Amino acid sequence: MLGLMQRRELLISSIIQHAARHHGDAEVVSRRDDGQIVRTTYEKLERRARKLMGVLRELGVEFGDRVATLAMNSDRHLELYYAISGMGAVCHTINPRLAPDDIAYIIGHAEDHVLFVDACFAPLVAAIAPRLAAVLRAVVVLAEPYEMKPLGARLDLPPGMALHCYESLLDAAREEPDWPVFDENAASGLCYTSGTTGRPKGVLYSHRSSLLHAFQINGADAVGLRATTRVLPVVPMFHVNAWGLPYAAPMVGAALVMPGRHLDPVALLGLMDGERVDLSVGVPTVWLNLVNHMRQSGARFSTLKRIMSGGAALPRALVAAFAELGVEACQGWGMTETSPVVTFNEPKPATASLKGEALFDHAIKQGRALFGVDIRALGPDGAETRWDGKSQGDVSCRGHWIAKGYFRSPETEIADDAWFPTGDVGVIDANGFLQLTDRSKDLIKSGGEWISSIELENIAIGHPDVAEAAAIAAPDEKWGERPLLIVVPREGHEPRPDDVRAFFAGKVANFAIPDQVIVVEELPHGATGKILKSELRTIYASRR
Ligand code: ADP
Repeated sequence: MLGLMQRRELLISSIIQHAARHHGDAEVVSRRDDGQIVRTTYEKLERRARKLMGVLRELGVEFGDRVATLAMNSDRHLELYYAISGMGAVCHTINPRLAPDDIAYIIGHAEDHVLFVDACFAPLVAAIAPRLAAVLRAVVVLAEPYEMKPLGARLDLPPGMALHCYESLLDAAREEPDWPVFDENAASGLCYTSGTTGRPKGVLYSHRSSLLHAFQINGADAVGLRATTRVLPVVPMFHVNAWGLPYAAPMVGAALVMPGRHLDPVALLGLMDGERVDLSVGVPTVWLNLVNHMRQSGARFSTLKRIMSGGAALPRALVAAFAELGVEACQGWGMTETSPVVTFNEPKPATASLKGEALFDHAIKQGRALFGVDIRALGPDGAETRWDGKSQGDVSCRGHWIAKGYFRSPETEIADDAWFPTGDVGVIDANGFLQLTDRSKDLIKSGGEWISSIELENIAIGHPDVAEAAAIAAPDEKWGERPLLIVVPREGHEPRPDDVRAFFAGKVANFAIPDQVIVVEELPHGATGKILKSELRTIYASRR
């Protein structure tokens, strides 16, 4: 017998409809390229998104078509999220920090016919446009008409590729009266992995997976947005849908504060204070820069209560630094293929009373699985590891918002109940908290012993002279591999390699202490803010 309950499709458009009706005056604040702050509400945004559906139809976009965006976080990008997915097309967010060659490749691979772009990326579009003449029919600049003129020569497009102004198209468009209803399993978004090895691969989200993920990250034991929250996503909307915040925030009526391209610490702090932000979300590199700025300037946060970190390990020293500033730092773990949040570190009864150092030790764990997804680690024998906080294994996961293959790569498809290998290595403790030790390709194995690069980096960042650190494996005749540490000094400090090495004594086993410490001005970061260890290995590991 079937249950006697209403069956309604889980559609992304239902989020913005709810926000417009029940949180109509909740704000979306955006900083434009020129620094200007503009305000809108969910009610106005929903209306413009319905107009935008009309624009998309005029541009020839049909159900299932991919539509590309090359844009920072803004109200306009949010309108695009809802209009594109809402009409049944696929919102393909492109990371502008990828190599131009990769961007051209993925536009071709996805067959995007229309590209929406921030004016600041005009030179990038102009550079790749000639190679996309056969695919792209239109480029729409997210700008006012008066901002189009200065673009002129900077955005010379090949014949057959039209150039449009976003606000002019919207002005001329007819408001669509309704949001269409279709199968919740329809594709809604497309995001390519950063392709550190090989070509980028496309992860194709569905309306259903995006909604279930948003419901869950809004749980009290996860990001936990509320109608009273004012959240600033530093994580870009091209990085795994800004970790689901563009869906989770309107779902509960939380105000969204969008920083645009102004991501330096001074701009972020100004926006946080000016817009009464209480939660902000981003990668550790952003937080390291912000905390260093706070230390140097002596500034304090006026409203910020909590930051959420993800994308790379949250250093212990950062948790402590935020605590000193009166801000709680928490973290989640996941990847493009997992929508992304799989685990989140919030207390259980067994960990709720941890204090001081013990709390910091716990805070650097990646967290426990949300309902709807599951995790496990497989040891070298292929069996699931014991949840003892010590037995290390390859982490895999499965669930409602985990990819079952890559776009247009049928050979990568796995079964609905299969475990997806994440490429991360870690341990799970008796309370079910996952702690990553490494990405499998970054593991360091010395004389048969595994050394966690994450642990070494965590300790190094705790040194008062060190701002950022990366540990890599260097080939070694006797031991196979030895850890090599590369550090960036904190401004005004000069770390001495011997002093940094000595700092490890008693904190890790002797064999894990890096043999060599190299001080550099800057570490290379990839398109999603992660340290590029492959590049470091090429530069430093063979030089010993
Ligand atoms: P990429 O395209 O570089 O894979 P993702 O954002 O998908 O970009 O990266 C996912 C990877 O980032 C994970 O597999 C993991 O190695 C790392 N990662 C994400 N969150 C965390 C975290 N909280 N702690 C440690 N590593 C993390």
